Amino acid sequence: MNKRELSQQLPDLASVSFQDLTAFAEGLGLPPYRARQIRRWIDARGATSFEEMTDLPKALREGLGARARIFTPPVLREDAAPDGTRKFLVQLEDGLTIESVLIPDKDRLTLCLSTQVGCPVNCSFCLTGRMGLVRNLASAEIVGQVRSVRARTPRRISNIVLMGMGEPLLNFENAADALRRLTDPRGFGFSSRRITLSTAGIVPGIERLGREGPPVNLAVSLNATTDGIRDRMIPINRKWPIGRLLAALRAYPLPPRRRITIEYVLLGGENDTDEDARRLAALLKGLRCKVNLIPFNPFPGSSHRIPDRKRVERFQRILTESRYSAFIRESRGKEIRAACGQLWAEEKKSGAS
Ligand code: SAH
Ligand code: SF4
Repeated sequence: MNKRELSQQLPDLASVSFQDLTAFAEGLGLPPYRARQIRRWIDARGATSFEEMTDLPKALREGLGARARIFTPPVLREDAAPDGTRKFLVQLEDGLTIESVLIPDKDRLTLCLSTQVGCPVNCSFCLTGRMGLVRNLASAEIVGQVRSVRARTPRRISNIVLMGMGEPLLNFENAADALRRLTDPRGFGFSSRRITLSTAGIVPGIERLGREGPPVNLAVSLNATTDGIRDRMIPINRKWPIGRLLAALRAYPLPPRRRITIEYVLLGGENDTDEDARRLAALLKGLRCKVNLIPFNPFPGSSHRIPDRKRVERFQRILTESRYSAFIRESRGKEIRAACGQLWAEEKKSGAS
């Protein structure tokens, strides 16, 4: 067995739950506050080795180094777009890869995380959907993306969105566990107000998130106003059609002063007419929400069309005239295929097809 294989058998203290970390510390005869210190070093302070944990006695750091490890998913590749958006190809321990995207704005730095390798939902307009589901990410792999990317930016990550590869509510346990860890004040300490989970409309998952929390912001990819159109775009609509989805959103226990984000991908000539906009306004009546309009981002082999700019603006105007807040989400990082729905995580290796 080589050194790498040997070290892989040591427990990874970045992956274990806080409970297991405490039990591990106890097993070494350490008091519980040591577990808290270690978790804080890894999650809040970005330590990637025990040597960095300078408030632990040297002998303890050495002892930990011999008995445990801290796995930080390596970044195999990074692409940067002219608008400052950066895309990272992150490698998991089994060699599979996922993408995470860092999006800078004047007053915020948003990290877009993946929750699955591929996605089983297979929306017609999404490149990730073409991969099918390869596997779910463990909660440590979801938060591991924050640890890997954070080390590569001098700015503080202010916002987290679960909007990368995958459908978070089809990986409910692990996504919820990751959210709990991201909002844990003993660790990453993000405010739940600065985290958004985006779903294609998995109704039982929305209901469960409402019951169990944590109370992060909810974004829902509605994308169409009739079941006929939505069935073709998002196959799970046949199981949970628009009526059921909107009923679940109306029943969702929204914290005070928060709104649900309705995402609407505009496909040229398919769901972008004045009639669609009016139907959308009628459907959303009484729902505390805002609407993000996302012009379709094309990718090689996609059969949909980019909507005309005038159409997009007219669609927005109809919504604002009905007193909805509607924003056109300018695509970020298109040049590096980092925009919504363009993530695909197969590293191009020479010789591979
Ligand atoms: N699975 C979740 C989150 C990941 S997709 C969901 O579907 O909500 C994140 C967002 O990208 C969704 O709103 C989705 O509708 C949108 N999207 C997917 N493919 C796109 C494309 N090619 N162009 C524009 N937006 C796209
Ligand atoms: Fe999956 Fe979301 Fe892409 Fe649909 S849009 S295939 S749910 S990642």
